[in-house]
Amino acid sequence: MRTVISAFALTAFLLVANLGLAAAPPATAEPSPASVSPMIVLDAHQDCLHRILDRDDNLGETYGDEQGNIPEWKEGGVNAIWFSVWVNPAKYPGRLAVNRAVALIRAFNHQCALYPKYLQPCSTAEQVRRATASGKIAALLGIEGGAAINNDLDLLPYYRQQGVRYMTLTWRGNLAWAGSSQAHESRAPNREMGLTDFGRQVVHEMNRLGIIVDLSHVSDQTFYDAIAISNKPVIVSHSNCRALAPHPRNVTDDMLRRLAANGGVIGVNFSRDFLKTAEQKQDGGTPDIKTVADEVDHMVKIAGIDHVGMGTDFDGGITPASGLKNAAATPKLWVALRMRGYSDEDIRKIAGENFLRVLKANE
Ligand SMILES: [Zn+2]
Repeated sequence: MRTVISAFALTAFLLVANLGLAAAPPATAEPSPASVSPMIVLDAHQDCLHRILDRDDNLGETYGDEQGNIPEWKEGGVNAIWFSVWVNPAKYPGRLAVNRAVALIRAFNHQCALYPKYLQPCSTAEQVRRATASGKIAALLGIEGGAAINNDLDLLPYYRQQGVRYMTLTWRGNLAWAGSSQAHESRAPNREMGLTDFGRQVVHEMNRLGIIVDLSHVSDQTFYDAIAISNKPVIVSHSNCRALAPHPRNVTDDMLRRLAANGGVIGVNFSRDFLKTAEQKQDGGTPDIKTVADEVDHMVKIAGIDHVGMGTDFDGGITPASGLKNAAATPKLWVALRMRGYSDEDIRKIAGENFLRVLKANE
């Protein structure tokens, strides 16, 4: 059902969203979007750690080109971040991938120690709730790319101990044990290679340890192989819908239905590359907030409201949708959804509650 909201209520919503939705609604605002207070806004895929490590950036400062640091998160009401420990196996082959992952985790810990007033390292859903309730940004860790385990199951408990709560099975390029949606160099689509026996062991071990299986980036076959054997809800942390944006990195409607049956969640990705519709590809059109909202609509239509979240891919070398330059612009998405008739409860689920449910289910 569509709700007509006044300009005043919309302004109030924007204002409150900027404050992390913590303020009480003005008595005259009708209907008041501020009734969703307090709202957990969780970005399930933020890629700033390699910038922190390689450029010596700090999360408390602004540089002009970053898509998310503490000032932007504060302004955008983003109060939970899943920091991506991204390992590129072409750049860091073999054991070097492990070294790189460890260095990124150390950079994360260093930033949390540097900004204790703003960042709270978290590894459970309860910790995220407590951190956000105290006005801090909940900081979670997820690994992007199974190359980080260098074919060694024993590294999984180590990463779990470090606080890692998800691992994307592959990044670009096949691993020895899991197929990726794209070849590394050519980026040609690959849909055939799935999980090997060892790949299945990785999924079982992740289930056992409480490391969520993330199926962004993987081949269709890997998606189906993993979801068939996972005994916990999985995530697709930062991908879109192939039905709207024909890119091999995006998921089909059938995959969305499987994800819903598994109890999992997909996070809408803000990158133009993964948002561009066939029409926009043809006429040179630019994806914008409406394109992102269309993606959310499609995910909700196929998978259901309980299975959609946000995984921006900010700082992952992306050009974001027009109007969503950085994390400070995040409330624009809630407003766009509000205008399409999403209720406070719906928005709250998409903003963070759905991902938190899966986090808890994997504990
Ligand atoms: Zn990615």
